[in-house]
Order: sequence, then structure tokens, then C-alpha cells
Amino acid sequence: MASATDSRYGQKESSDQNFDYMFKILIIGNSSVGKTSFLFRYADDSFTPAFVSTVGIDFKVKTVYRHDKRIKLQIWDTAGQERYRTITTAYYRGAMGFILMYDITNEESFNAVQDWSTQIKTYSWDNAQVLLVGNKCDMEDERVVSSERGRQLADHLGFEFFEASAKDNINVKQTFERLVDVICEKMSESLDTADPAVTGAKQGPQLTDQQAPPHQDCAC
Ligand code: GDP
Ligand code: MG
Repeated sequence: MASATDSRYGQKESSDQNFDYMFKILIIGNSSVGKTSFLFRYADDSFTPAFVSTVGIDFKVKTVYRHDKRIKLQIWDTAGQERYRTITTAYYRGAMGFILMYDITNEESFNAVQDWSTQIKTYSWDNAQVLLVGNKCDMEDERVVSSERGRQLADHLGFEFFEASAKDNINVKQTFERLVDVICEKMSESLDTADPAVTGAKQGPQLTDQQAPPHQDCAC
């Protein structure tokens, strides 16, 4: 398993300590729904049509600015472990947000969403935020999962919903930005109610690498 320092995707930004918050985000879902492509599109603005299966857990880092705060996103990709529909619990540790992805041209990937959601609920922090994403919306001719079904499932699971295309760069940035916003909303809510899982280091993930002061307000 790769660590922060030997990331295959390692880039200069990952060692930049200049940020207000750090959020760990995971992209999860069946194999070949487009998770790696989605991450590359967002972090590098690139798309590779050839199938390159993901070997080893790895992540990319991207810094975003929301409401005067510099937020470093550590976005983790799976290791091809998703083929077995389970991934190591260590992967979930400290995650504050999830992009749960299916492929709108693949019914099986949509049917698996419930299982993935159960995994998130089982292994992750209670306050982790999840967005459901139907990827490959550029392939309208091969669509088998209607937007309506996607939306209904998202409502049922209590997640927000986007359809997106890593290929045509549709709703990729928007998905990440919305996820950052819901994490920030949750954080300020938790700070308001002085939830120890967020304000202290009791069970929740660290807000930053740099040990945030316990009552610092998120201005997001
Ligand atoms: P992963 O296994 O979930 O990481 O999926 P990949 O990112 O490796 O993508 C699997 C295949 O789907 C590759 O051939 C990609 O080029 C293709 N793909 C990924 N995203 C899109 C998309 O938005 N539209 C289309 N048409 N193909 C995509
Ligand atoms: Mg992959």
C-alpha cells in the first residue's frame, strides 16, 4: 500500500503545508465506472480513453479555495480492490467525504450502490458526507439507468446526486466543490453543537495535518 510520501501520483502540492484544512475524500464504486478517470480529470484535467486498471491504493492532492479558506483535498483512488466489492477498512479511516460512483450504462454498477453505501456506513466516520454520481453521462445512447432512478436512489440513501462525465468534463469540478461545501456545512454544524468527534481528536478524523485549534470556526 502506498503512503503519502511514496504516492505514485506524488506531486509537489502534496508536500505543501500551507492550508487551513485538509479533507480526505474517497472515490468508491464498482470497477470500471470511471473513478480513476474522474480523479485524473479533476486533478490534472486529462482523460485517457485506454483502460488502465488501478494498482495499489493511491491519491492525488488538490487545493481549493472556499470562502477565504485554503482547503487541501487528499483524494484517494481504489486499488482495483473494488473488483471484490470490498476494500480494506484502513482505506476508510479518516475520510470526511465520499464520491460513490456508478456508470449510467451499467445496471450492475447501479445495483451495487446500496452495498457500497452499506460499506461506507459500516466503516467510516458517522459524519462523513456522500455524493452519488452517475458517470458517463456522455453515453446517452447506451444509457440503462435513467436520471430519475439515480435521483430516487440518492434521495432514499440521503445523498446528493449528480450525473457527470469524466470524458466530456461535465459536472466533475462541481461534484468536488459541492462535496467540499457539504463537508464544510457539516463541520460548522458540528462545531456549533460542540460535537467532540469534530472539535476534539476523540474519534473523528483530524481536520488538518496541523492539528486545528479545537474551537476554530469553519467560515465555509
Ligand atoms: P475505474 O475502474 O472505476 O477506475 O474506471 P476507469 O477510470 O479506469 O475507467 C474505465 C473505462 O471507462 C475506461 O476505458 C475509461 O476511459 C472509461 N470512462 C471513464 N469515464 C468515462 C466517461 O465519463 N465517459 C466515457 N464514455 N467513458 C469513460
Ligand atoms: Mg481505477
